[in-house]
Amino acid sequence: MHELSIAHSLVELAVEAAENSGIRRVQALYMKLGVLSGVVKEALEFSFDVVIEGTPLEGARLVIEDVPVKIFCPNCREARVLPEPFPMRCPLCGTKTGQVIEGREMELYALEGGEEDAGDDN
Ligand SMILES: [Zn+2]
Repeated sequence: MHELSIAHSLVELAVEAAENSGIRRVQALYMKLGVLSGVVKEALEFSFDVVIEGTPLEGARLVIEDVPVKIFCPNCREARVLPEPFPMRCPLCGTKTGQVIEGREMELYALEGGEEDAGDDN
């Protein structure tokens, strides 16, 4: 499954980032997920829960922020957020465009955690 390998890399990345920033117990991971990223959010959440077992991230939450598609309309000369990913046209003037500014992200952008040792609670 596609999402399972993504979850694996996500965990590797987070473990490394936690070590670098002195977080000993990660409580939450925050990521941005564009609606055009091709990743199924629910599948990723499920895979994450499976993958973190037995890792330093066990028990951590994955908080996914959906990033809508933002296009640049050459007619309005402005960036517009689309209410739906398709069709890719300006919601105001209807001009078709392929200039995607946002919506393809798949990015871990923050970790929440403490410096206490793992296993203190529960
Ligand atoms: Zn427009």
